[in-house]
Amino acid sequence: MKAVQLIAHGNPGQFKLVELPDPAPASDEIVVQVRACGLNRLDLWLEDGALPIPLDLPRIPGSEIAGHVIRLGSNVEGWRVGDRVAVQSNLFCGSCEFCLSGEESLCLKGQLLGVQKDGGFAEMVLAPACTLVRLPDNVDFNASAALTLAGSTAMHMLTNRTRVQPGHWVLVVAGASGVGSAAIQIARRLGAHVIATASTEAKRQLTLHLGAEYVVDSTRQDWSSEVRKITQKRGVDLVVEHVGGAVIEQAFDCLARGGTIVTCGATAGPKIHLNLWPLFVKQQSLVGSYGRSRADLTTTLEWAEVGKLKPTIDAVFPLSEVPAAFARLRSRTVLGKVLIVP
Ligand SMILES: [Zn+2]
Repeated sequence: MKAVQLIAHGNPGQFKLVELPDPAPASDEIVVQVRACGLNRLDLWLEDGALPIPLDLPRIPGSEIAGHVIRLGSNVEGWRVGDRVAVQSNLFCGSCEFCLSGEESLCLKGQLLGVQKDGGFAEMVLAPACTLVRLPDNVDFNASAALTLAGSTAMHMLTNRTRVQPGHWVLVVAGASGVGSAAIQIARRLGAHVIATASTEAKRQLTLHLGAEYVVDSTRQDWSSEVRKITQKRGVDLVVEHVGGAVIEQAFDCLARGGTIVTCGATAGPKIHLNLWPLFVKQQSLVGSYGRSRADLTTTLEWAEVGKLKPTIDAVFPLSEVPAAFARLRSRTVLGKVLIVP
């Protein structure tokens, strides 16, 4: 099979298009023919070598995989050759105390497909059978690869780690990003008023198109006071955040009494100054969110099936242009998802 390996970390990293033997499944594994694979911030962290876990090279990146089953391990039941699937890229053990309680995203032995194991920027990928989720008939491979990871990350943040009540005010930071564009749609469908932030006019227009009622310019120093103005100084009930650094510090200025910030990333920096006084006086919460469970993935695909969640696709690249795809995502000018189609 053809595959793209990251052979040296860097910005940009070094990639190589290689010919490898087709993967052979162990008894509980499935080989998936990759039809589309989304590119994510996670891939850029892998490229940089910036993840706080041991990384072995060469590695085939790619965590947001859609395709069909082509080979089955001897003990696999419930799947047939040709089945259309999405792959849950948070690999989980299925037997630790957290997996047994259905909280796969807390697995003690969790691994990331496309980071610690070879991923989907290849013609085929090997995955444990338990990580596959069936694709609804009317969700095509590109839509799945554009929603599976970012969409289910947002689903986990808004329906598992926190709750959105009808009429609540929700602020979606970086609303034109993969997680942001899904979070806007999910919060609106749950009945919330949505304010988004975005750094360019094109991104601001996209957030409004996705359902945000208000959008503020995140390049303005005083964007948080804009948010307070929109809510008549009350503040928002929930902030959906994945930027970190100074941005999450400003997000606290936007928060209403009893409000919650839910975060799944730290692109702008992992360390922040936190003022505990308003946090406890206003009884606010800061909640971490990591990955997803298969239930979040299934819900995401069900929402896509009935049109409640739509992908925004920026560009599609072949395997031979993976380095260009990484450069495009890194440029921060993308509107929606960048996909690789082998
Ligand atoms: Zn586990």
